[in-house]
Amino acid sequence: MSLPFLPRVTATVDLAAIRRNLGRVRQYAPRSKVMAAIKADAYGHGAVPVAASLQQAGVDALAVACLEEALVLRQAGLELPIVLLEGVLSAQEAAEAQRLRLQLVVHDRWQLELLAGLPDSVPLSLWFKLDTGMHRLGFAPGEAAALYAEARRRPAWTLAGWMTHLASADEIASPVTARQVQAFEQAVAGLPGARSIANSAGLVAWPQARADWVRPGLMLFGASPLPGKVGAELGLAPAMRLQSRLIAVREVAAGEAVGYGGSYVCPEPMRVGVVAVGYADGVHRILPTGAPVLIHGRRAPMIGRVSMDMITVDLRGLPQAQVGDPVLLWGPELPVEEIAGWAGTLAYELFCGLTNRVHFVHVG
Ligand SMILES: *Cc1c(COP(=O)(O)O)cnc(C)c1O
Repeated sequence: MSLPFLPRVTATVDLAAIRRNLGRVRQYAPRSKVMAAIKADAYGHGAVPVAASLQQAGVDALAVACLEEALVLRQAGLELPIVLLEGVLSAQEAAEAQRLRLQLVVHDRWQLELLAGLPDSVPLSLWFKLDTGMHRLGFAPGEAAALYAEARRRPAWTLAGWMTHLASADEIASPVTARQVQAFEQAVAGLPGARSIANSAGLVAWPQARADWVRPGLMLFGASPLPGKVGAELGLAPAMRLQSRLIAVREVAAGEAVGYGGSYVCPEPMRVGVVAVGYADGVHRILPTGAPVLIHGRRAPMIGRVSMDMITVDLRGLPQAQVGDPVLLWGPELPVEEIAGWAGTLAYELFCGLTNRVHFVHVG
């Protein structure tokens, strides 16, 4: 949707960058098929345009968390295989998932019972999830053979494969991942079906976890899944540019405080910029004084508290800054990983936290 005026806050999503990042995934895991994890509205980047772009680039499958997300993709006409990562949550969802030809992760016996109630006239494709140490979802590894036998008894069921999820793939010095991979391989040894282990961190850092299918999410959007690195250092292209603009430039006297609670006191007479973006747009309120924005390609520190619709920035280093100037919150020139660090969180949460007040533009 284009507006007859300049939007206040714009997230520009570069779909070409996302396709290049898919290419980077294929460089890391050349023998694996790619199931793109685009849950949570493609990590806030817009599920339908992202999925269409990935389909055009030849991705092998899509993965989402829940039925609602899959429905949006099917309604948009996407015909790729779609995997429901948490499987179905009710008998009604099971019937709808079958109608939408979704591949279902089955992580617990109660889900098998739901599926047992479906008609055998429609095929169903299943991934069995094994819990190899994360202890969130999945069957015990020792149950794999019995699960396989159960699936075989149902003529309509096909076994798409076996899945597990890594708890600590981003900790490259941790012994946990190697143990999980080993437990998984042992559990499925000799059983048919594809194997899938790795999310972004797993496929980047652990060659032995690449297996038949990789499941990248974050890295497709150009952010690093490894702490202490930014996407560019892993050959990734940041796909989102979050931008607002200056709506006021003030001269504030020495000793005067800025914003709610007066938490920032000007140490000298200084120019303060007011940017039209706040926590109601997805700029986390926890961001402290010092967290950077980019104006005219130069960093300016935020000062005082983030409010619902505005932030304030120190313009002492930017004498040329004036009302209307664009302000970058994150993007290729200001890594989202760095802003996430200031907020004590991860790029994942910043992306997913953008609200419907942000205007999205898809390019490329
Ligand atoms: C979200 C998700 C992924 C993708 O994780 P990233 O860290 O974003 O690459 C992979 N597998 C499962 C089961 C997931 O839920």
